[in-house]
Amino acid sequence: MKKILITRKLIKESEDKATKTFDPIFNNNDELYSQSKVIEMSKGCDGILSSLTDKMDKETINKLPDTIKIISNFAVGFGNIDLDAAKKRGIAVTNTPEVLSDATAEIGILLILGACRRASEGIVSAQEGGWKWSADYLIGKQLTGSRLGILGMGRIGQKIAKIAKSLGMIIHYHNRSKLSDEKEQGAIYHDNIKSLFSVSDVLSICCPATKETENMINKETVEYFPKGAVITNVARGDIVDDEALIDALNRRKIYAAGLDVYKNEPNLNPGYNKIKSAFILPHLGSATKDTRIAMANLAIDNIDEFIEFLSYPNDANFESDIYELIDWTENKFKSLDFKINRLETKTIPLLLASKHISDDYKTVLIYMHLDGQPVDPKKWNQENPFIPVYKIKDNESFIDYDSNKDMFGNLLF
Ligand code: NAP
Repeated sequence: MKKILITRKLIKESEDKATKTFDPIFNNNDELYSQSKVIEMSKGCDGILSSLTDKMDKETINKLPDTIKIISNFAVGFGNIDLDAAKKRGIAVTNTPEVLSDATAEIGILLILGACRRASEGIVSAQEGGWKWSADYLIGKQLTGSRLGILGMGRIGQKIAKIAKSLGMIIHYHNRSKLSDEKEQGAIYHDNIKSLFSVSDVLSICCPATKETENMINKETVEYFPKGAVITNVARGDIVDDEALIDALNRRKIYAAGLDVYKNEPNLNPGYNKIKSAFILPHLGSATKDTRIAMANLAIDNIDEFIEFLSYPNDANFESDIYELIDWTENKFKSLDFKINRLETKTIPLLLASKHISDDYKTVLIYMHLDGQPVDPKKWNQENPFIPVYKIKDNESFIDYDSNKDMFGNLLF
C-alpha cells in the first residue's frame, strides 16, 4: 500500500477512506506542522495530502524526499504551493475544485449581506442591549437594484452571481477571458478592472491569489469605485492591500467591507477590528461538514488516481501549461496577420483567429486537440511543438483540419 502523509486532521469519514486506500500518517492532534517537520515526516511517503495552512514554498519543495510524487491540496486555492518548484521537481499538484463551490458561494453572499446591512454593528448592539429603534437606526444599503461586480467569475463567482441575481442585483464581471453566453447568464463583461470597479456598488472578489492578482485592491484601484461602494472578499487575502482598504474605509470612500480571508491568517491586520463597518469572518468559506468530507475525499481520490493511472484531473499546474501553449499558438497566428480573440481558458475552444483570405473571411477556431484527443499540455514544448488541430468555421458548421496534414495548415505555416 502506498504511504501518504496527511498534514492536518480530517473528518472521521475521510480518515476512514484514507485508511482503506493507503497507509496514511495521520495528524491526530491536528498540530500545525513546521515546513521542516513536513519534510521530515514525508520520508518514505509517495504523496502528501496538504492543506492551505502548509506553506509549500520553493525551499520546502526542493527538500522533499524523491519518493514524493504528488501534493494533493485540500483546497481549491493553491497559493500555499509554489507550482513552478513542484513542476521542476516533477511533483504533481492537485486541488479540490467544484465540491466546495456551493458552500463558499453561501459565505460570499453572507459577506455581501453582512457588509451592506451592517450586521456587525447590529450584532454588537443586540448583545449590548439598550438600543432604540428609530426610522434611521442602523440603516444600510439595499441589494435590490444595485450593481454587483464579480472579480473572477469562475465556479464560485458564477454561483454567487446566480443567488445575487435572485436578490435583484445586476451582475457585472471581469475575468481575463469572456465567458460563453450560457455561463454569463446575462452578466455584463468588463475586460479590465477599472471598468468593472467603476460600476461596482458592491464587489465580490472570487479570483485566485496569483502574482497577477496580488494587491489588486490597492491605493490606486480603490479610487476607481463609486463613492460608498462595498468590497467583499471570499477568495484570498493576498488580493487586498489591507492598508489601502482600511484607509478607504476610514475615509468612507468605501462604505463597508465583508471579509472571510486575510493576509497572514489568522493574524489579520488589527485595523479591521477598529472599523465598525467591517463584517469579518474567520475563513469559513467551505466550512460545512458535507463539503469538508467531499473535499478530503476528492483529495484522497486525486492521489489514488495519480498513483493508479498516472492521471490527475484536478491538475493545479494545468493553467500555466495551457497558457504556454496558447501564447505560442496565438503568436503564430498573429505573425500571419490573424486577429485573435481569446475565448475560455480552461475548456476548449480557446482561440478564435480571423482574417480576410482572398474574398473569404476565414475564422479559425483553435481547439487544443490532437488526433481527437484533448492535448496534454505537459507533452507539448516549444522545442518540439506540434500544432493543435484547428476547426474552421464555415457558416454554422465546423470542419476539422489538421494543420500538419491539410491544405489550410500549409497555407498557414
Ligand atoms: P475558478 O473556477 O478557477 O475561478 C477563478 C476565476 O478567476 C476564473 O473565472 C478566472 O477567469 C478568474 N481569474 C483568474 N485569474 C484572474 C486574473 N488575473 N484577473 C481576473 N480574473 C482572473 O476558481 P473557483 O473554484 O471559483 O475558486 C476561486 C478562488 O476562491 C480560489 O482560488 C480560492 O482561493 C478561493 N476560495 C476561497 C474559499 C474560502 O474558504 N473563503 C473557499 C474556496 C475557494 P480567467 O481565467 O478567464 O481569468
